[in-house]
Amino acid sequence: MIHSSCVEISRSAYRRNLRFLKGLLGPKTLFSSVVKGNAYGHGLETFVPMAQECGVRHFSVFSGEEAYVADRCRDADTDLLIMGHIGDEAMDWAVDRGVAFYVFDLDRLCAARDAARRVRKPARVHLELETGMNRTGLDTDEMEKAVGLIRQDRRLFRLEGICTHLAGAESISNYVRVHQQLRTFRRMAGRVRKGGLRGGRRHTACSAAMMNYPASKLDMVRVGIAQYGYWPNQETRMRYQMSGTSPEAQSRPDPLLGIMRWRSRIMSLKRVRQGDFVGYGTTYQASRRQVLAAVPVGYYHGFSRSLSNLGHVLVRGRRAPVAGYVNMNMMMIDVTDCPGVSRGDEVVIIGKQQRARSTVRSFSDLINYLNYEILVRIPASIPRVVVD
Ligand SMILES: *Cc1c(COP(=O)(O)O)cnc(C)c1O
Repeated sequence: MIHSSCVEISRSAYRRNLRFLKGLLGPKTLFSSVVKGNAYGHGLETFVPMAQECGVRHFSVFSGEEAYVADRCRDADTDLLIMGHIGDEAMDWAVDRGVAFYVFDLDRLCAARDAARRVRKPARVHLELETGMNRTGLDTDEMEKAVGLIRQDRRLFRLEGICTHLAGAESISNYVRVHQQLRTFRRMAGRVRKGGLRGGRRHTACSAAMMNYPASKLDMVRVGIAQYGYWPNQETRMRYQMSGTSPEAQSRPDPLLGIMRWRSRIMSLKRVRQGDFVGYGTTYQASRRQVLAAVPVGYYHGFSRSLSNLGHVLVRGRRAPVAGYVNMNMMMIDVTDCPGVSRGDEVVIIGKQQRARSTVRSFSDLINYLNYEILVRIPASIPRVVVD
């Protein structure tokens, strides 16, 4: 291995997650795989072809540049949707490639119309409605105008979706707000249709919403974190677990499997005596004779410095705690209790090793990060490979 670490993506685990998630959907609800943020750190170019093999036919990205990469690895019958930014320069490209995109203001709609004229193809648009998140979206006035503009130039548009995003479906504390949003959405989407624009999938749900608010699923769900095998938060996981009526149902195993395994190797071993300090400064002092190992993964690789003296990795199926500060390109770990440890041994940072598992959550909880954040910090330069 040339690289100091490598990320494996498990196809079989992904298949299982998909089966579980699709089991929560009716036959008419389309599954869109959200692959923004380099497929949540899983590697866009590795993940998209693998997901297609598993039957996914719709991907959602944030930006034009992500769409550009996804477009190069999608099959001809796979749809692509941009939910956020498109540079003005990329609009012609998007329309020409048949990439669909959100329209959340009238400028974007006019830019789409002009691009459609230039490239002589209809722009595939999803009207994003403002229902209470107050981030991006058309308010009622803008929505009426948008409907008018689309009707004026019908040939230049294909209305493929009507959508919104919910402001925190993972937490019960947002219950009133989310319900209000869903009501507003239904009302506004009804007006788009009454305005003469039929068709277009209605979609509002992310991972948390499809689990916590079944009514949000509608014609399509946009699933990010859950397909990768992580719950949006612990509350959502608990609610799912508690929803089983019988005690057996409540103790059923986690239906989501983390599909990522991030591994490295021990670079060097070091024996220290009781009282020796390890690494920069004096934050780590050996409490006995210890064996430490240098691992070539540091905060440059997304392993947060906040995990200094706090995080752990796996070696020989045992937990090895981080010893001292996490450095830019490496860290020291305590392998005193890993029998037979030797240079070149596999180090698992995220994922399973023998019967032990190191979870993303075990990091994110320690340093108060979202699991989303831990995942996307793994740099794109680390190789991703699909394994079975
Ligand atoms: C990121 C995102 C999603 C997916 O969210 P998850 O919580 O990862 O499922 C859905 N919709 C929009 C608009 C998003 O930005």
